[in-house]
This record gives sequence, C-alpha cells and structure tokens, in this order.
Amino acid sequence: MKKLLSLLSTLSLAALTAFVAACQSDSQNDSLDSQKVVKNKLKTVYLSDNKKVHQQVEALLAQMTLEEKIGQMSQFTSDGDITGPAVDKSIEPYLEKGLIGSVFNAVSTEGVRKLQEKSLAKSRLKIPVLFGYDVIHGFKTITPVPLAESCSWDLSAIKDSAAVAARETAASGINWTFAPMVDIARDPRWGRITEGAGEDVWLGCKIAEARVKGFQGDSISDIGNRFKILACAKHFAAYGAAEAGRDYNIADMSDRRLREVYLPPFEAAKKAGVATFMTSFNEINGVPATANKYLVTDILRDEWGFGGFVVTDYTAINEMLAHGNVSDGKDAAEQAANAGIDMDMTGGLFLKHLAKSVEEGNVSVEQIDNAVRRILEVKFLLGLFEDPYKYIDKDIEKKVILSKENIETARNIAKRSIVLLKNDKNIFPIKDDKEITVTLIGPFVKDKVNLNGSWSAQGNPKDCVSLWEGLQKRYTNTKVKFIYAKGCDITKPIKNGFENALATAKKADVILVAIGEPALWSGEATSKVDITIPQVQRKLLAKLKEAKKPMGAILMNGRPLVLAWEDKNLDAIMETWFLGTTAGDAIADVVSGDYNPSGRLTATFPRAVGQIPIYYAQKRTGRPLPADKKMGGYRIMCSDYIDCQNTPLYPFGYGLSYTDFKVSDIKIDREKMTRDSEVTVSADVANKGKRDGEVVVQLYVRDVVGSVTRPLKELKNFKKIKLFAGQTAKVTFVITAADLEFLDKNMKKSVEEGDFIAFIGLSSDDEENSVKFKFIK
Ligand code: BGC
Repeated sequence: MKKLLSLLSTLSLAALTAFVAACQSDSQNDSLDSQKVVKNKLKTVYLSDNKKVHQQVEALLAQMTLEEKIGQMSQFTSDGDITGPAVDKSIEPYLEKGLIGSVFNAVSTEGVRKLQEKSLAKSRLKIPVLFGYDVIHGFKTITPVPLAESCSWDLSAIKDSAAVAARETAASGINWTFAPMVDIARDPRWGRITEGAGEDVWLGCKIAEARVKGFQGDSISDIGNRFKILACAKHFAAYGAAEAGRDYNIADMSDRRLREVYLPPFEAAKKAGVATFMTSFNEINGVPATANKYLVTDILRDEWGFGGFVVTDYTAINEMLAHGNVSDGKDAAEQAANAGIDMDMTGGLFLKHLAKSVEEGNVSVEQIDNAVRRILEVKFLLGLFEDPYKYIDKDIEKKVILSKENIETARNIAKRSIVLLKNDKNIFPIKDDKEITVTLIGPFVKDKVNLNGSWSAQGNPKDCVSLWEGLQKRYTNTKVKFIYAKGCDITKPIKNGFENALATAKKADVILVAIGEPALWSGEATSKVDITIPQVQRKLLAKLKEAKKPMGAILMNGRPLVLAWEDKNLDAIMETWFLGTTAGDAIADVVSGDYNPSGRLTATFPRAVGQIPIYYAQKRTGRPLPADKKMGGYRIMCSDYIDCQNTPLYPFGYGLSYTDFKVSDIKIDREKMTRDSEVTVSADVANKGKRDGEVVVQLYVRDVVGSVTRPLKELKNFKKIKLFAGQTAKVTFVITAADLEFLDKNMKKSVEEGDFIAFIGLSSDDEENSVKFKFIK
C-alpha cells in the first residue's frame, strides 16, 4: 500500500502544478479583487500546508471516476437512513463499490472494523471510510451539556472536557464529531440552546476555540494524533436565530446582525483550525443555508479562507423541496453543490443526481474535484491510508473508556458548571459537622435517566451517579441525615405523593427539592412556549411550603427557565443543568461546600416568556426606560412592558458564591488611546467573606456614540481568579483597538473616534465600577 502511494505521489506533481495554475487564473478573473480574497481562494482548496498530502490527494484524484468522486461526497448512516432500509444491507453494495465517503452512527470498534473491511475488500481504489458521530458532550464518559459547561467560564476545563470526548471517541474507531455547536442562542424557547455556549459573541468565540482544540488538537498538524478527532463547527449559520424560537424555522436578519452576532464564533472555529463545517437546516434571508453560496463560498471560503470540507446537516439537501426553493431533487443537489457543499449527509441526492448534472454542465468538474480533494485530505491527515485500522484497537478502547482520569476531568467541569441563583437563609452549603436532617424530595433525587441530557452518545445512565448516591457518599459518617420522598413524577402526580412528601418534610430541618425538566425537553426539535417547570412540580413546591421549613431547589434542566415563582417562593435555587456521568458527585461537592460554586450564567433567565429574546448586549432605543419611570406622576411612553419589568430575573454573568466578592477602585492608566496604543483598566477584587472561592471578574465596554447604533455594552474579557477568605487582588485588563472594532456604517471593520466606558464587574448588570476613555485616530 505504502509503495503504491509513493508511486502515485510522484505522478501527481504535474497535476498539482496545473491545478494551482488553474486556481490562480481563476482567482485573477474574479471580480473580487482584494488581495485577501485571492490569497484565500488559493488556500481554500486545502486545509493543511502538508505538500506531501496534497500530492497524494492529487494522485489519487487523478485515478478516480466521476462516480467514485461523488461517492466520496456522500455520507451514509449505518443504522438506516431515510432514503433506504436498515443498516449494512443498504450500504453494503455502496461500500463495496467505493461509493461512500463517510458513515455515521457506527459505534464500537467491532462495528467500525466490519464496515471498514467491507469498504476496502472489493472497492477499486480502497479509499478508507471516515466515521462520524454526534459526540457533543462526551462519548461514554458524559460531561455537562455544553450550555452548562459554558457557565464554568473556564476555558481550559472546557477544552479538557472536549479532549476527554475525543480520547474516548478516537479509542472506539471514530474520527469525526459533529461538534462543537457554536450557534449563538438568545431564545430559550429554542431547545438547542442547551448545545451551545449561550448568548454572548465574545465568550462564544473563546469557547468555540477551546472546544475545537480540545477535540482536534492545538493546530491542524495535530490531525492524525491517535487520541484526537476532527471537529465540526455547526450549524452554519444563524440556526440559533430561528423565528419564534421554533426549531428549523427561518432566520431573517440584516447582514450586520449576521456578521456581528451569528458568524464570529464560526470564524473563531475556523481560526482554531476546525477541519469541517456543517450547514444549518434553516433558511437565511430567503436562501436555505445548504444552498447559500453567499455563506458557504463567499464568506467561508473566499473571505475566511476555509480549506476544510463542508457537510450538510442530516438530509438538508432533500429538505429544500419542503423549503420551496428547488423544483426537484436534482435541482436541490445542484444548488447545494454549486453553493460549495462538499458532502451530502445521508440524503443520497448527490449520489443520485450529480453525475448527470456534471454531464449536463450544471455542476463543474472543478467543483466536484475540490470537494473530493478536501475530503481525501483529511483522510490522509488522519493516517487512514497508511493504516485504515489505526483507530481500532480493543485494548486501547478498554483502557480509555470511562477511565479514572476521564471521570475526574468530568467531575471537575461538572462542579464548575453549577450556578447558585439564590441562597437566602444560607441554605447552602450543608455543613457536615452539624446534626441536621435534610429531606430530599422530588422526581430528580434518584433519577439517572435524565442526567446525561440531550445527545448523550454512548453514555449509559447506569454509569451516572444520582444526586441521592452522590450525597450519601459525601455525607457518610457525618452528622447529616438524609430522608427521601419522591413527591411526584416529572410531569404527573403519584399516589399519595404530596402527602408523603409533606410528612417527610415536616420531619426535617431543611427541605431540598430536586426539580426540573426531562432531558429530552431540550436539544433538537424541543422548542417550547412554556419554559416554567412542569405544573405538578410547582404544585409540589406549593404543598411543601406548608411545612414552613427552609426550602431550597436543586434544578436539573437544559435551558434557561422562567423561575419567577420559584425565586419568590423558595429560599435557595441551585442550577445544576444536566451534568452527566458524575452529576451526583459534582452536586455533592457544591452542596457540601467542598467546592465553592463559581459558575456564572451565559444565557439570560427571563422573568416571563414574553420578554424573549432577552440578552444583555441589547441595543439602545430612542425611548429608553428612565430611572424614574413615573416622572411627575405621569406614565412615560418608553420602550418597556406594561405588565413586566424590562430586566431579566437573572442576568448574563450572574451567579452567587458562598463568600462575598466586592469590586472597587477601578482605575485606568490613560484617558486616551490610538490604534497603536492601548489602555489598561484595573480594579481591586476582594473576598470579603469567610471562605476561599473563585470569582469571574468581567470586563464590559460601551461605545458611547457610533456611526451606527451600538449595544449597551459588550463583554470584552474576563478573568476567573481564586481568592482566599479576606484576600484582595488587583485584576487588570488591557483594552486594544481590536477590542473596540465593529462594522461601521459602510460595513467596514473599524474603530471610530469617541468616548468609551469600561465596566469591571461581577455580572452584566453590575455598573458600579466604570471608567471613561477616548479613542482618537
Ligand atoms: C442535527 C445535527 C446532527 C445531525 C447528525 C441533525 O438532525 O441538526 O446537529 O449533527 O443531525 O446526527
């Protein structure tokens, strides 16, 4: 095999030179004459700079028939797809003819080996198959749902978590995950908010980078590392902007909003070296993403210089028939290919129609060749040609899956993802040296089924530690005693549930209620118009109030909820999301105070559904809400609601600790800055309480006047620091011109002269410490 490849690689030099020349002349003829675009056009054919691999690809490509090329552009699922019957039976003939570029949902080393063997046994060119899978937050060791992880504001823990997923996935023979989802989401009705990093652009970019590097490695040259997998930035683009929060719905928005809010995390993923992109299901401004040349070619390839390959979402090409922008399947395949799509995920339309489209001149051979180049390149980079079974090794699989190290990493990010939303009467922590009885009530106390959240890959609920188990373990041989009553099921009452729960509650000193939403109420196709906790649980809480005991809630859910009632009626609320395999242990870490909670919200919690979309980086209006709304006794007509406040219940960046942090004494080293200078802003952050703890110190900047209106403020940096009880530290941020850039009225990235305000605080609504500075040209 090796011999054959080196022979092919010599043959390919001429092909490569001709190809580069063709690209050059192509780009010279292009009407977009900016240097950057021309340079990027040349780069976009390949992801890496690996000349040897490029030669190998060119050599192989020169051997391929059109049908084989289109086969590479086709992905099949191993457990049946909508175009064919089940499993291996339907894909076998295609595998044998070498007409499958990638298979997904094949799990286990045996399963993957079997399919790879089939693809290599009879196919003419013996091109190995690429195996993909949705490893969103863990493969077998499940880490918190991505929204939860983002609340850790701990980029290295987030990266480590993705690295655990990569290790276990690669150990099982799979080389490609459909993650990270980097869609900005500002609408908690949209269930997929659980899969992303929340509402913020700047933080979203940082987390996109951390996740790509965790899955794939620090640079493109890490592709091929035995314990890494290809990442996929999805869903390109504006999927999170689904109208009315209804999944798959249209996104209609200005180019400004698209570029300022929805695209930056994708560009950050590109810069971090992500090997693949996935288009989204939705249309944007009238064109489905999968046929959107503006997005896939003009922006992604020509502006950003992306050289990896682009896969559609599941049957997204076929779905264009329903969108109504194509006349038939062939039209759909052509529009997708011409937009710049490289791989058809399970739809089968490329395979069915593209050969004819090429014959008729509707799709160029060059378009097909470039797609195949990109797909083959990653297969070479992964080392699959040298050894198609490189990632298949039962011993490694055994050693890596659910290893002690992976579990520890999972528990570390899990405890950091917890956000303490309210803590009156010091309900938390529950100290272990005081003789008390705690009653644990609720459908989530002993639950394991929901702990892994949505997209739990190979995660097995049996491997999860329940809240009950975690607390029992932590408090063994202490003075704390736990008693239990279920109270109700997640969505319905149980016989005598409320009565038993109340009787148990009366026996206790403190009531802890574990409530929330079932895991499958968030994730794909789980949009909701009512995002309060299920009514039966609310009724249970109301009943338990009759016990007149301090009562706190431990919440398990995948999206921000409307918790106005709970905030008013409970003494404490701890948001634990869905934390995965180590959930119970991680919650016990925080409940006991072994770990002082340090999570901060990355998505706003509204007071009412009617406030949505609600996010901190809102624009101003011409009629902002004045501080004193009832000036002179008259109601002012301003941008507000007559039945609800404008402010959220819990803002972005918010979260409590078991100690008190205080920011003071903000300072700036100079009041003016230019393109070549920077300003340094600092403040003192003190731990005024009696416990050590970590705090997320946040820097926001407001551009006071712009040629177009600007958000009220934007996160520009943060530091998560640990402070011992009584300790004060100076926290310093450097602000550069790049931090102040935005798209001006001509849609050019620029910094405009004028005033800026920098805030250092502990939440997006914390404006106590601010300083002004000027930018001058
Ligand atoms: C989802 C993607 C996912 C794909 C493959 C789609 O329905 O939107 O996020 O990667 O299925 O499972």
